[in-house]
Amino acid sequence: MSQSPHFEHIEHLGIAVKDVSAAEARYTAMLGVAPYKREEVISEGVTTVFFQIGPNKIELLKATRPDSPIATFIERRGEGLHHVAYKVADIRAEMARLKQEGFLLLSEEPKQGADNMLVAFVHPRTAGGVLIELCQTQEAK
Ligand code: ZN
Repeated sequence: MSQSPHFEHIEHLGIAVKDVSAAEARYTAMLGVAPYKREEVISEGVTTVFFQIGPNKIELLKATRPDSPIATFIERRGEGLHHVAYKVADIRAEMARLKQEGFLLLSEEPKQGADNMLVAFVHPRTAGGVLIELCQTQEAK
């Protein structure tokens, strides 16, 4: 098993849903565990629900307003896999490295994401059609 010095592991898979209660019930039944966290990210216009499966997480995302990126995604592509999130140790260094490699980042600076993470996104156009999220755990305040 070779270790990337840059991306530590897949942190979570983000799944866009229309009805968060129905999706939460479906995932609870499928995974056999209840979510460990529900959180609204006001800046992104989403409600999130997190499940933990071994070392990995599943994040359900539901739009809380019509201009939310999740609302736009569901309008264009329907419900389903929205992004793949990788854990990184130094998000700013990884953003600079990916930019250097020709990837298009959706923001210049990392943002406060759900689950106490600093996050940044790579445009799917430069990542083979998959929205990529980088996340770095924040120090507890
Ligand atoms: Zn995510």
